[in-house]
Amino acid sequence: MKKHNFSAGPCILPQQVLEKASQAVLNFNNLSLSLIEISHRSKDFVAVMDKAQALVKELLQVPDGYSVLFLQGGASTQFLMTTMNLLKTSGKAAYINTGTWSTKAIKEAKRIGDIDVIASSEDKNFSYIPKDYTSSEDTDYLHFTSNNTIFGTQFHEFPKVSKDTMLVCDMSSDIFSRKIDVSKFDLIYAGAQKNMGPAGTTLVIIKDEILNKTGRDIPTMLDYSTHISKGSMFNTPPVFPIYVSMLTLEWLKNNGGVDNIEKLNNAKAQLLYSEIDRNPLFKGVAAVDDRSKMNVTFVLTDESKQEIFDKLWNDAGINGLKGHRSVGGYRASIYNALPIESVQVLVNIMQELENTL
Ligand SMILES: *Cc1c(COP(=O)(O)O)cnc(C)c1O
Repeated sequence: MKKHNFSAGPCILPQQVLEKASQAVLNFNNLSLSLIEISHRSKDFVAVMDKAQALVKELLQVPDGYSVLFLQGGASTQFLMTTMNLLKTSGKAAYINTGTWSTKAIKEAKRIGDIDVIASSEDKNFSYIPKDYTSSEDTDYLHFTSNNTIFGTQFHEFPKVSKDTMLVCDMSSDIFSRKIDVSKFDLIYAGAQKNMGPAGTTLVIIKDEILNKTGRDIPTMLDYSTHISKGSMFNTPPVFPIYVSMLTLEWLKNNGGVDNIEKLNNAKAQLLYSEIDRNPLFKGVAAVDDRSKMNVTFVLTDESKQEIFDKLWNDAGINGLKGHRSVGGYRASIYNALPIESVQVLVNIMQELENTL
């Protein structure tokens, strides 16, 4: 029996995707060759890349005028790349700081230019999403993190920007979990390993017209234009993570797409949060209005129950429930591929803890 995998990242993937991926490693498309030992320029792999890009466009209804890229270096490299490609040499960018990942994005951006942190929830250990902020008219772009994987908060409404300000978002941990209007964004990036595939590739969705306006000399590999002009094949792409991401997106499409997964994700989050709110032994960490539907952070109200609770969930075959060291307590990551049955197992354990007292 597979474990109930609540890991925050790398995340759970659908079982059928893992099986197909294993098969492709041994013998891809009946070529009598492995997926990971053929040329990335072979027609078999080019078809994978094309399909992965097409599925992203279809599932998120990406409008014309946007490119879809599969890059390397993780979301962490995007912290730097976004700034290098979008911030004018004499310009200014605005950031909303809602956690560890935003903080890291700000740190990298500051190496490049003038950065204004217009809002932050650091005063309360990032347990909420700031609501009161404005970015000035002369801001080149506003950057935010849509879902805060570590602290368990999520933007349920996206920031609004003026016509001349680009909107840039790190969607690593909630992309494909809910409907979004891509046309509102100029650039979206997401490390694959939270909700799309294995680690090793980063999805970037970028509005073509925003590029080449900074007046900066950008190193070849860090220039989005390089990757757009070569269809993410300027250098050898990470073939395996792209293939597995493609399979996961195909699985998503076959299961009703983003519309349907959003409903399932809402049901999973509702099931778990209602138990946290009902059960006197547990307490949520994030502000109720800003709770994440992907990463549910909670603590025990009575620390002396920790040992018995830990034993209960371990014995039930649950994996990855321990909270991040900067928050403590517990974090249940309930990404797309986690079935509601696994959430029910966790809820049962929480009730069992209450009943064993
Ligand atoms: C995990 C994570 C990152 C870092 O991703 P890497 O691919 O490891 O660089 C960045 N942002 C968010 C929101 C994340 O959850």
